[in-house]
Amino acid sequence: MTPGIAVPFFGFRDFPAGIEREVQAALICALESKQYILGEQVTAFENAFASALGARYAVGVGNGLDALTMSLKAAGVNAGDEVILPANTFIATAHAVLQVGATPVFAEPDTYTYNLTTASIEAKITNKTKAVIPVHLYGQPCNMDAIMTLANETGLKIIEDAAQAHGATFNGRKAGTFGHVSAFSFYPTKNLGAIGDAGAVVTNDTEVAEFVRKYRNYGELQKYHNEVAGVNSRLDTIQAAVLHVKLKYLTKLNAERQRLASVYLAELYNTGDLTLPFTATGCTHVYHIFNIRVRRRDELQQFLKAHKINTAIHYPIPVHLQPAYSCLEHQVGAFPIAEELTATSLSLPLYPGLSEHEQEAVIKAVKAFFN
Ligand SMILES: *Cc1c(COP(=O)(O)O)cnc(C)c1O
Repeated sequence: MTPGIAVPFFGFRDFPAGIEREVQAALICALESKQYILGEQVTAFENAFASALGARYAVGVGNGLDALTMSLKAAGVNAGDEVILPANTFIATAHAVLQVGATPVFAEPDTYTYNLTTASIEAKITNKTKAVIPVHLYGQPCNMDAIMTLANETGLKIIEDAAQAHGATFNGRKAGTFGHVSAFSFYPTKNLGAIGDAGAVVTNDTEVAEFVRKYRNYGELQKYHNEVAGVNSRLDTIQAAVLHVKLKYLTKLNAERQRLASVYLAELYNTGDLTLPFTATGCTHVYHIFNIRVRRRDELQQFLKAHKINTAIHYPIPVHLQPAYSCLEHQVGAFPIAEELTATSLSLPLYPGLSEHEQEAVIKAVKAFFN
């Protein structure tokens, strides 16, 4: 195979064309408004984001981890409580549980969707369980009808980790609008990304929204009147201005991700032992990550690298085996499905603005590996 063009794993591209200029204009506008902290742009974006999702409230915060932490606090999760979450997630989901003093209880994902199921949740419920964090992994929503039915039967609080699923839907309803409260991250590479750290808590519950609005800003709604010992984790005015522009294009950005995914799905169908992403009934997948699974994963990654195709692994170590969680004393083999995913998963380049040439180069190189 002749070496082709280099393909970065991720790139910030001007897609749809002109969006970069529009973002620049919004930045200048935010700068000139001189309302650097909790300016009008923050409220405007919060309202637009809530309305785009079909939720009552969105509260802008500093990042996705804080959004999760504050969501747990708002849901009443405290020290001594247990919170069920998938063993195959980004570390923030588990860290948030520790941040509020609760105990993370890991559960296995489904073999096909890689998401939590009611069966895997039920297997972990004890009399200390207070909440569950379903993670809409890689951009595919969990079966939220089943999970909310379980929540209604058991009284468990549901905190959605929607950090990878902006705009994804389950039975026509947006991810992040099913649970009692949900957390979004606007980390730059997310489907809706800022130009630095940013996040939001989304809810239909007035008390939850008010709690987070207070908590993110030193526990005050009125300056120097502190009702709770909150934190400083506000959505920055500049980030809000950028996000408001990008939000207008979220549907287009996701549609482009879906188009690129459909090309990979068609072109890589029946290639070697590849397992391609599976979209469950009722879901629209927004492909934050295009994950494939393959037995000789490390070899494939090296081969692609030699052909200048950059890939990533989401995630190389399951949460229960991370040094930060050694206190929970989980052994290798405790979560076989999650562990298998860490050994076989590979993420291919997929982002708005990825060119046809670039995607062709990825496909050619993957096929060449198996030939
Ligand atoms: C990105 C991400 C987060 C955390 O977001 P930050 O803004 O980086 O703190 C949480 N959960 C999941 C699943 C994520 O992908």
